[in-house]
Formats: sequence, C-alpha cells, structure tokens
Amino acid sequence: MIGTARKPEAEILETLGKYHKIIVTGCNGCAKVCKTGGEAQVASMAEELRKHGKEIVLEVTPERTCYINHTLTSFEGKEKQLKESEAIVVLGCGGALQVVRQATEELGLTIPVKIALDSVGHMDTVIAGTLAIEQCQECGECVLNETGGICPVTKCAKSLLNGPCGGAENGKCEVDRDRDCAWILIYNRLAALGELDSISTYKEPKDYAKFNKPRSLRLA
Ligand code: SF4
Ligand code: SF4
Repeated sequence: MIGTARKPEAEILETLGKYHKIIVTGCNGCAKVCKTGGEAQVASMAEELRKHGKEIVLEVTPERTCYINHTLTSFEGKEKQLKESEAIVVLGCGGALQVVRQATEELGLTIPVKIALDSVGHMDTVIAGTLAIEQCQECGECVLNETGGICPVTKCAKSLLNGPCGGAENGKCEVDRDRDCAWILIYNRLAALGELDSISTYKEPKDYAKFNKPRSLRLA
C-alpha cells in the first residue's frame, strides 16, 4: 500500500486559506489502512475545518481513490456540491489527489484540489493495525528470487546488489546500528534454503532506465 501521514493542521489550514466551502475526500484503500483517510478521518477533518470556520459541503470516501472509476462513482449525484465547493481537500496519497483532480476535470469543473497527507512510501503492514514498513521500492527489475525473498535495494542502506559491504558489526548495519544488515539476513536465509548458489556470481548493475519517471503500466 501507499503509506501516508497527516500534514500538520496549520499547513492544511494555510493551503485552504481563502477557500470557505470545502469538500473533504478520503480513500477507503491504503489511507484507511494507514488511519489517515478512511471515513473516520474524513469526518474528523471535516469537524476540525468547521471549527476553523469552514463550511463542509460534502464528505466522500471512494473505495480506492486512486482508481478513477471509484472516484467518479463517488461523485455521482453530487454535482450540486461539486459546483458550489471552492476547494477539495484530499486525505489520500499524491496519486489519489491527482485522480480526484482528473475526475473534476472530466466533469468539466475547475476546482482547487489540496492534499492533507504526505505520501511516505510503499509500505507493507507487518504488525496488523500497528506497524507498516517499506520493503519494496518498485525498481522494475525484481531480484527477490535470488535473495531469499529479502529486498537488498530497500533493506540494505546502500542498496547493494552484491553485498555485504563489510561494515556490519554483530549483524547490524554500519549505517544504522539499530538495523539488521540486510545482506547477513539474505545470506542466512539462503543458507537455510540451500540456495547460496544464487549469490555466488556477480550481479550486474540494475537497468536504471526503468526508474525513469513517470512510469506507466498498460492494463489492457
Ligand atoms: S528488487 Fe526490491 S525494490 Fe526491486 S521490485 Fe524487488 S522487492 Fe521491489
Ligand atoms: S552493513 Fe549490510 S545493510 Fe548496511 S550497508 Fe553494509 S551491506 Fe548494506
């Protein structure tokens, strides 16, 4: 999922500055899991904004706001509120905001769309309801089959493809002594699996052209 964290209230109020009639839009996908943009957070953002003198003309939480059809569906029948609103504030990731903007444009509207969250990376929930961590940077050329299912690009501080660097001490990374060295984890896992052969040969550098932005994905 896309990890999100709420921006400070002062920053949200500043960006909404001159706008009075506001639509609050959340996301029942990743932002709900992050407890930053589900229905509960949309309701509490609306309440906060009301306390600061804003008029909330609509609260809406699409199933997954990053999916254009979900966002358009959630706006169906809400044309009146959309037309009278002066700004939309989105409790979702940066992609969600841009899909909301696209939806308003497809509906022929020019409304400022403002973000209330910071997107902090691709996160996986490792302790339900409590902790999510970054495990994949979507490099476009996955090496997990050769590294025992542990990503060196993300979990090694230097993103080494041919580790370890030699700086680890007592199994901890030289860059951050609180973190396990990813390459020691990879070695131990491969040893347990009997797959050490997979790291016995040098790995060529990745094709960094695959990181060129913006990337796209054909779905049909
Ligand atoms: S190698 Fe790591 S960053 Fe690249 S796709 Fe696989 S898990 Fe993601
Ligand atoms: S100590 Fe391990 S995790 Fe840290 S930079 Fe070196 S190889 Fe990577």
